[in-house]
Amino acid sequence: MPHPQSLLIVDDCREDRKIYRRYLTKDPRHSYTIAEAQSAELGLELYQHSPSDVVLLDFCLPDMSGLEFLDRLAEQSQQRPLPVIMLTGQGDEAIAVQAIKRGAQDYLVKGNLNRDSLQLAVRSVLRQSTLHHQLNQTLERQRLIAMTALQIRRSLELEEILRTATLQVQNLVGCDRVLVYQFAEDYSGTVVAESVASGWTSTLGLTIQDTYFQQYQGRVYCEGDECTIPSVANASLSPCYRNLLKQFEVQAHLVVPLLLNATEQEPSKLWGLLIAHQCSCDREWQPDEIDLFRQLSVQLAIAIQQAELLAQTKLALEKQKELNVFKSQIIATVSHEYRTPLTSILAAASTLKHYHDRLEAPKRDRFLQLIEQKARQMSSLVDDMLLVQELELDRSQFKPIPIDLLQFFADLLEEQQAIAGETHQIIYRISSNPKGFWGDRGLLRQIFNNLMSNAVKYSPHGGKIEFQLMSSDLQVYFSVKDQGIGIPLEERSHIFQSFSRASNVETLPGSGLGLAITKACVELHSGSITLESQEGQGTTFIVTLPLTSGR
Ligand code: ADP
Repeated sequence: MPHPQSLLIVDDCREDRKIYRRYLTKDPRHSYTIAEAQSAELGLELYQHSPSDVVLLDFCLPDMSGLEFLDRLAEQSQQRPLPVIMLTGQGDEAIAVQAIKRGAQDYLVKGNLNRDSLQLAVRSVLRQSTLHHQLNQTLERQRLIAMTALQIRRSLELEEILRTATLQVQNLVGCDRVLVYQFAEDYSGTVVAESVASGWTSTLGLTIQDTYFQQYQGRVYCEGDECTIPSVANASLSPCYRNLLKQFEVQAHLVVPLLLNATEQEPSKLWGLLIAHQCSCDREWQPDEIDLFRQLSVQLAIAIQQAELLAQTKLALEKQKELNVFKSQIIATVSHEYRTPLTSILAAASTLKHYHDRLEAPKRDRFLQLIEQKARQMSSLVDDMLLVQELELDRSQFKPIPIDLLQFFADLLEEQQAIAGETHQIIYRISSNPKGFWGDRGLLRQIFNNLMSNAVKYSPHGGKIEFQLMSSDLQVYFSVKDQGIGIPLEERSHIFQSFSRASNVETLPGSGLGLAITKACVELHSGSITLESQEGQGTTFIVTLPLTSGR
């Protein structure tokens, strides 16, 4: 049986009041607490003191008419239509119409009134009132959600969005803590935003490895609108997560998924969770609170998606800008670096053309050699530029395999010694034999060849070049040390950027791309490269690579 409903009978006839009371107490579907008033003033007073769910109003009262009563009641109450059933005499239909116009919900003709018609009319008023109440609540909730959504979407910065959202949702739901939990690839996750009432410990930044969320791994995508992750209100959780809640004194919690909408390329994605905690007392979450929370999570998910799209667009723009800078640098380098060898080629070719018959064979060969050498130099510059662009723009270049580094470097050193000739002495020092290394052969060759050829090129008077290989449990290190011209201190910070050349290179040829390529290759191995140098004394480049970066 539902709660008893409150009913007020306003009628000066004692007999009639008794009849209505008798009829209504016999209603099998409702029970009523009934108050009676024999005058309009008393009725209004009672209603003001405690508004009834239904009022049975006699039209003819000694102190005022039923219509006047309705006007006074309308002033007193916000509710429309008024929960009033007007009781009129026979032939008073015109008055009844007036009553309905002034806000009454129904009327009954006293002469025709019986138990069933009264019960039916009262029930219908109650149903109408409930529907009105629900409608008002829904409208109010929609208004709150719209306002909150507006606040949340005011910013396009993810951090700001999450901060505003937790604060707004906490105010709206009225709980001790609201947090946003973001999933990582492996479904561990971190509390990335939080609004917490004073007196309760903050969970911001907390990372959780083993929670009940993991059980949803592999089922996180949604089919149609149906999500396989349910909202969880005070659900039973893994012991680990329960301990965590205990640690933060959580007595009741509510969890809803944050789902990013499907795009043409991808299905919906579980981005994270919106979570409410009640710490001060236990709390039974009401269905409309859960619904509100759910709707707010949808708004938040939309805002997150917008922020992510904006961030992606910004990134693409940045990339485009980089590409534009790169293109203009290419034009500058091409015009600068190509002019010198081209001038030599043109001069040699023109000499050969005009004086071919008069030149001796060795001289002709020298001109031809010069043309070939300069053409190769230009071709290698084009190769370098293409490689830098590929490495900077496309990470799929990295194809690691197991490599025996000792043998790998021994072979490369032999090649280098042949290129360096007599002027430089190449020394190979091995401090340990790294086992289980995974790397990309082509990229490692680039790293080694660039560092070694620079060491030779930038020590024009010859000298020792030391290559050293070391390793620890997790990393391998190798260094290339020369006794050459060194790099001025103030120029070291940007020496790894494309087209960057130090001021002391004088006429030594180069494009400023080798170190950029080297750095990109090292970073594809998740490694790092540093340098130590002293002007006029020499330079050492040190490369550190994780042992199994590619596995
Ligand atoms: P390039 O040698 O074609 O100019 P790199 O990118 O390989 O281009 O090197 C960039 C600059 O770094 C060089 O121009 C030079 O100024 C400096 N550099 C690189 N390696 C050495 C080295 N071993 N000794 C002295 N300077 C070096």
